[in-house]
Amino acid sequence: MEQDIQLQVKPGFIKKYQNGFPLIEKAALVNPDVLKKEGVIVHLVDTHRAFLAKGYYGRQNKGYGWVLSQKQSETIDAAFFARKIQKALQLRQQFYHHPETTAFRVFNGEGDGIGGLTIDYFDGFYLLQWYSEGIYTFKEAVIQALKNAVDYRGIYEKKRFDSKGKYIDDDDFVTGERGEFPIVVKENGVKLAVHLNEGAMVGVFLDQRNVRQRIMTHYAKGKTVLNMFSYTGAFSIFAACGGALKTTSVDVANRSRPKTTENFHLNGIDEAQHDIIVEDVFQYFKYARKKQLSFDMVVVDPPSFAKTKKHTFSVGKDYKDLMKDTIALTKPDGTIVASTNYSALSMQKFKGIIAQAFRELNLNYQLLEVHTVPEDFRTIASFPEGNYLKVLFIKKLDK
Ligand code: SAH
Repeated sequence: MEQDIQLQVKPGFIKKYQNGFPLIEKAALVNPDVLKKEGVIVHLVDTHRAFLAKGYYGRQNKGYGWVLSQKQSETIDAAFFARKIQKALQLRQQFYHHPETTAFRVFNGEGDGIGGLTIDYFDGFYLLQWYSEGIYTFKEAVIQALKNAVDYRGIYEKKRFDSKGKYIDDDDFVTGERGEFPIVVKENGVKLAVHLNEGAMVGVFLDQRNVRQRIMTHYAKGKTVLNMFSYTGAFSIFAACGGALKTTSVDVANRSRPKTTENFHLNGIDEAQHDIIVEDVFQYFKYARKKQLSFDMVVVDPPSFAKTKKHTFSVGKDYKDLMKDTIALTKPDGTIVASTNYSALSMQKFKGIIAQAFRELNLNYQLLEVHTVPEDFRTIASFPEGNYLKVLFIKKLDK
């Protein structure tokens, strides 16, 4: 057995770890240089070398690993991982029994006690995502624990930790049956195509489930809907299923056209009634303004950072302008769904950006709904940063 490594926590950070903060930050450590091999168990200790917490070393963005236990006597072994996974599964029982939804998150990183690992369920298939080489060293114990705890058709994984913290493009199959992709999952009765072995993204972002449902059940009927950064068209599909007059989906990636069409077909919708436009949204804004187009509802859900040939976009710098463009295309009394998953931006700041965009246009708005991550994306009070999603439903007022 290797010796566990002692990491001394700077005085200013001790309280934080005592209160259950799960992320091991470099800035909190007196002696980060002792860390060499990812996956080693580390003990956080105070100035007097008294135990604070134990966790593992793994480089993820700016993080140096995650706390796994605040109990000195708790051993990090196969049984530990099995306990965490069983608990997480227990908490999702109502999702397994939902007749109209067959895709959800069963394990959400530090929210379920193991930072750097997520597990999603897609109609009998499981997808594990490993966010550092460190957490990946526990692969055997985690997969064994999952296999013991659930009935599964197949298990897939994504390794999201090359030297730049990116997805490693590999065969993502782990064990069980190989899926015939796309597999078709249901979400509140709507069908969506999922590909577990085709790059970093699988076709649906599960964290927007409640937003999609609200659009379908409360907003879409009889409306024209513009879906910016549409990816596989999920928001458009739900709007169409909710009775939208017409949807327009805009995404710069070529794949978005066949993937959106596929999702329309799965739900028996004739895509000829809908527009799928492969274009940079910033070009589309210009075009739409020239043609004086306007929509009853506009959904904007950009990536945190994006680079196309013409444009570099970052949520932190550019969301206000994006919002101003969006407001311009929204009919008076129309609805804007503004979304971001940029974790460095707080809800309060995000709301401030929206307010500023309206102010600069001399227009008024009413905030209708606020959404964050859904309940299967479990978060803990000691790490509010884990709740990265911010979605606002906004009504553009007539005057
Ligand atoms: N709203 C989608 C998820 C968006 S993912 C959903 O709910 O499923 C981000 C998408 O933005 C990607 O599909 C990417 O191709 C697209 N994208 C990035 N930059 C873009 C740009 N400048 N114009 C249009 N699409 C862009």
